Amino acid sequence: MIVNLETITWTELDTLDRSRALVMIPLSPIEEHGPHLPLGTDIIAAADIAAQTAARLDAMDPSLPIVLSPALPLGCAAITADFPGTLSLRGTTLKNVVVDVCRSWVGHGFDHLLIVNHHMDPVHMKAILSAIRTVEDESGGRIAETLSRTVYAGAENAAISRGQSLGLDMRYEIHADAKEAAYIRYRRPELFRADAAARLTPVRIDVQKGMRDGYTTFKQMGAMLGYLGSPQAGDAEYGKLYLEVAVRQTVELAMKLLNGETLPPILPKIEAFLDKQVRLD
Ligand SMILES: [Zn+2]
Repeated sequence: MIVNLETITWTELDTLDRSRALVMIPLSPIEEHGPHLPLGTDIIAAADIAAQTAARLDAMDPSLPIVLSPALPLGCAAITADFPGTLSLRGTTLKNVVVDVCRSWVGHGFDHLLIVNHHMDPVHMKAILSAIRTVEDESGGRIAETLSRTVYAGAENAAISRGQSLGLDMRYEIHADAKEAAYIRYRRPELFRADAAARLTPVRIDVQKGMRDGYTTFKQMGAMLGYLGSPQAGDAEYGKLYLEVAVRQTVELAMKLLNGETLPPILPKIEAFLDKQVRLD
C-alpha cells in the first residue's frame, strides 16, 4: 500500500505497521541544466523514480506500507552556482536538514528510510552520507541514499552501455547530458526545449583535470551554457531505458534495506575521495 505523506492524516499514518514500513524521500537541488532542460530536472527525476519504485514494490507486495514523501528540492550544487536558477545549500546546511528529517521519522518509529537522489555532486553526496551515518549511529535505524549504493557502488548500468553503443564517451556525459536529455524527452517531453537542444554541440570537459587546475565551477572549466556532454544524442528510447535501470536498481536497494541485507558498498576510491578531498563547507 502506498500512502502519500502530503495527503494523509496523522491518524492514518499512525495505523501503519512501522516495523515493515518503508519511507521514501526524494531529494535533489533546483539546478541549471543547460538551455534545453528545466531547472527541476534532478528533483523531477528523483520524485519520478521514487513514485515508480513505490508502484513496483506495491505490485510485488500490496501489504507493504510505503510512505511517499513530497520531494525536497534541496541540495549542494556549488559547481553550477554561477548560473541563475541554481539554489545551492552549504554542505553542513544540507547535512543538518537531512539529519533533522531522518531524526523526525525515526522519532516517530519509522526507521527504514530511503533517500532517492538524482544529483551526484560530491559535497551533496558527502552531506547526505554523513547525515545518514549520524542518525543510524544514534538510532540503529536503516537509512540509505540511492546513488551511493548504485552508481557510486559500481553497479552494472545498461544505460551507460547503451550510451557507449551510440558512440558516446560516457566519461564526458556528466551534466544535462545525453542521459538527462533523454530522460526528460521520454518522461516530460513538454519540458524539453528542442529548438535550444538542436543548436547544442557536444561539450567534452575533463572535470577532474579542471579541479586539479583549481577551477571550482563547470563554467570556469569552459561549460559556458551549463551542460557537459552530448544532449542531442539522448532520444526518448534512451530515456526509457535510463529510467527503467534507475527504477530497477532502486527497487533492489529498497528490498535489501527492508530485508536487513548488506547494502552494496560505495567504491573504495570514491569513499577515499569523499573522505579526504571533499569538504562540507
Ligand atoms: Zn541533473
